[in-house]
Amino acid sequence: MPGQLPVTGLLPLVDARQFVLRGCRALGPIEMPIDDALGHVTASAVVARSAVPPFTASAMDGYALRSADTAGGHVLLRVVGALMAGDEPRVTVGPGEAVRIMTGAALPPGADAVCVIERCVVHDGDATVEVDGSLGVDKHIRRAGCDIEPGDEVIGAATTLGPGHLGVLASLGIETVVVHARPRVGVLSTGNELVEGAAPLRPGMIPDANRHTLLAQIRRSGWAAVDLGIVGDDKEAVAAALQDGAARCDALVTSGGVSVGDLDVVKHVLDDLSGGTMRWMQVAIKPAKPLAFGHLAATGTPVFGLPGNPVSAMVSFELFARPALRRMAGHRQLERPRLRGRATNGLPRRRDGKVHFALVLVARGGDGGLEVDAAAGRESHQLRAMADANALAVLPDGEGVKAGESVEIMLLDAELPGLAGGEEFTDG
Ligand code: AMP
Ligand code: MG
Repeated sequence: MPGQLPVTGLLPLVDARQFVLRGCRALGPIEMPIDDALGHVTASAVVARSAVPPFTASAMDGYALRSADTAGGHVLLRVVGALMAGDEPRVTVGPGEAVRIMTGAALPPGADAVCVIERCVVHDGDATVEVDGSLGVDKHIRRAGCDIEPGDEVIGAATTLGPGHLGVLASLGIETVVVHARPRVGVLSTGNELVEGAAPLRPGMIPDANRHTLLAQIRRSGWAAVDLGIVGDDKEAVAAALQDGAARCDALVTSGGVSVGDLDVVKHVLDDLSGGTMRWMQVAIKPAKPLAFGHLAATGTPVFGLPGNPVSAMVSFELFARPALRRMAGHRQLERPRLRGRATNGLPRRRDGKVHFALVLVARGGDGGLEVDAAAGRESHQLRAMADANALAVLPDGEGVKAGESVEIMLLDAELPGLAGGEEFTDG
């Protein structure tokens, strides 16, 4: 039966990732108000239909004039009006005339340059103005369309919208934008041993940690997370929870029940509900070796069956679910930034045919380079390291990395200690 083939070897990480990524397509385009679109990915390019600025305007406070009048290097002009930003330019500037003008005001007809106020001497209560020096055409003037012209592609397809993009759209009078929908992702914990909250624990029971980590990983990525609760290791209960989740979500993430233990029911349920198309993988990585991925046949909903060990679940989400969900959200760049840093204390490992991912704390060192420290505890059941870490060190098969050596890291958090400018703020 597919998905239950005996495991003969480990699947390379790239192959497992390809399989998962191919199984996730960008969600359909939706049109939304620009103020709701922060972090969404454009589904098509945005082309300007109007100009920015929409009219020729003064770039400075000063006097609008005819540049030819200043050719002699010194001139006295008659002030025939004043224009503030927002005023309609009804007055025309004739030879020997000037109009007092403020930044952003439309340039009056006849004028082709602005003399800044600091270089003007005003006489007779602003009846005349003396201008020193000759001004070229367009001096201190913003021509209509000098920033954006109609027909310009201002935002490309597959662009993640940031505050600057939204300002550009607004400046063009564009109120809505067509983006990919962001995935709603359901999270389900599985295991007879799991309890919710601070209730006293019966022997053998543990609090559910994974759901809270995974819900937060999803939210941190900018997507809606749906809490599907805990179910025991019971096929009917797991199947019902997945079907309930599929009715409400674009993708589902489960943890637990995909290993080789007696009660690893998730992979069996997924096998049934996927019509046998689910693939149960043993990936050549540590932690997070087991992974189930497939689609619920009834709805086409992708399901990521992550392992139960908390570190494995967190790492598995990073390596498989997050890139795939990014694809669903319309991103083309799916990976975390990969940088190199220097291992402060060394990250030893043994040769075992797997790529290891170690939770590490990365900080900017005194010389400006990145320093990489192992987070406490390297086993996949040791949660403590999850709280200390802000990156994963990538340790290819081999002996690991010695103190002082260079190591590749995947940054999980952009806020590195020492990277933010200045000192830490304290009230003291
Ligand atoms: P499993 O993948 O179901 O075999 O679980 C592997 C280990 O992870 C076991 O020790 C489980 O108790 C533990 N585990 C599974 N799910 C969770 C969870 N949601 N929170 C904390 N530990 C878990
Ligand atoms: Mg279990």
